[in-house]
Amino acid sequence: MSEGSITFDVVEFTAGDGMQLNLLHAISDKKPTKGPVLLVHGAGVRANIFLAPVETNIVEYLSSHGYDVWLENWRASMDVAPNPWTLDQAAIFDHPKAVEKVVEMTGATSIKAIIHCQGSTSFMMSAVAGLVPQVDMIISNAVSLHPVVTTFSKIKINILPKLVAFLTPYMNPQWAKKPKSFIAWATKLLVELTHHECDNTVCKHTSFIYGSGHPTLWRHENLNRETHQWLSDEFGFLPMQFFTQMSRSINRGHLLAIDNRPNFPTDFAEVTPKTEARFAFFSGKDNVCFLPVSQQNTFEYFNKLRPNFHTINIVENYGHLCMFMGKNAVNDVFPRMLAELEK
Ligand SMILES: [Zn+2]
Repeated sequence: MSEGSITFDVVEFTAGDGMQLNLLHAISDKKPTKGPVLLVHGAGVRANIFLAPVETNIVEYLSSHGYDVWLENWRASMDVAPNPWTLDQAAIFDHPKAVEKVVEMTGATSIKAIIHCQGSTSFMMSAVAGLVPQVDMIISNAVSLHPVVTTFSKIKINILPKLVAFLTPYMNPQWAKKPKSFIAWATKLLVELTHHECDNTVCKHTSFIYGSGHPTLWRHENLNRETHQWLSDEFGFLPMQFFTQMSRSINRGHLLAIDNRPNFPTDFAEVTPKTEARFAFFSGKDNVCFLPVSQQNTFEYFNKLRPNFHTINIVENYGHLCMFMGKNAVNDVFPRMLAELEK
């Protein structure tokens, strides 16, 4: 694989339950002078989401600043066969093994991580449960332990799984291109009736499935034309279990496990975090997928446990994913993340 002057080695790893997953290791002409950084994507996308067609994406930016960049394709990735994943499974089986693999391949004694959305919620679960002790600094974007959404999104995510679970075990923004079932056609019709903000049907489907914004996942003005086109191939399968877990967590105000697994917390705001990591919480101020108060709440939670150690960065004029995909993120967002990595 290649991306500009950067190429990628695919490094396979086996999750704790035997699922085959992989890491993309960025290789550039310049040898890394700093330690490994693991990037973890959100739900229903893939590692590729960090490689938007912008002048400088986050991988190129971190590489050019000397970091050894690794991208994790965990079980929610479009590059993994569709499966009924939960955040618990990702937290217990995927992230700890991905971290172990990076440590094994690099010989580093500690690593840093940049985690986004449901890659962030599940990775935070790993951290709080003490399953990724090698990670000493974590940049979390959009949401971590305290998911908060708009009132309309909350009503929708409470109704949606109950309403459609008997019709389909999953949702998929690719239905915009090829609706093959009743639910796919019905969703497409509903999206076309309620979304008129642009002419990209996958973009509008993601807005419908991931919340209630127009659009939900970015501010259109932050994307270049190529990225708005490119994202059509970057969204796929989302199992109903995930919507159920998220609706329960949103109703409670913080993350809840759903699988009842042994030696794993059930309520993630009611256990002492088993991590020494420093957290830098980020959110776009205009994020309408998860409101910025989500990250504010988690920052305050960790700040109470260890005052003046963790930080929060709310970035003006940015939404959810344009924090990474935005045409000017290289000037507006990445330097703030770099400053946190280098503190
Ligand atoms: Zn659009």
